[in-house]
Amino acid sequence: MREGNTNTIYDTPLQDSYDCVVMGGGPGGSATAALVAEAGYSVLLVEREAVPRFHVGE
Ligand SMILES: Cc1cc2nc3c(=O)[nH]c(=O)nc-3n(C[C@H](O)[C@H](O)[C@H](O)COP(=O)(O)OP(=O)(O)OC[C@H]3O[C@@H](n4cnc5c(N)ncnc54)[C@H](O)[C@@H]3O)c2cc1C
Repeated sequence: MREGNTNTIYDTPLQDSYDCVVMGGGPGGSATAALVAEAGYSVLLVEREAVPRFHVGE
């Protein structure tokens, strides 16, 4: 990831900082990130795998 705030993820500009960073976009991480965002906090969800991808349970 490059420095600065000009990078984008899915057309959303990266911020310099976040209230919360969630590592892992499985069911647990996704639900956590969604709840944090719904509560009004900025959140960055980081997933190491490219998506969409196979996931156990799907
Ligand atoms: C064989 C098997 C069959 C299953 N079948 C079902 C089913 O039929 N139905 C069902 O509801 N559940 C099923 N489950 C259970 C379900 O898969 C888990 O309960 C669920 O995936 C757990 O979610 P999680 O978010 O805790 O972890 P995970 O789903 O493991 O998510 C963790 C995520 O974090 C990412 N990650 C890890 N390290 C990093 C890192 N350093 N940086 C960035 N990202 C990272 C991983 O790529 C992953 O996407 C099954 C499980 C197994 C093992």
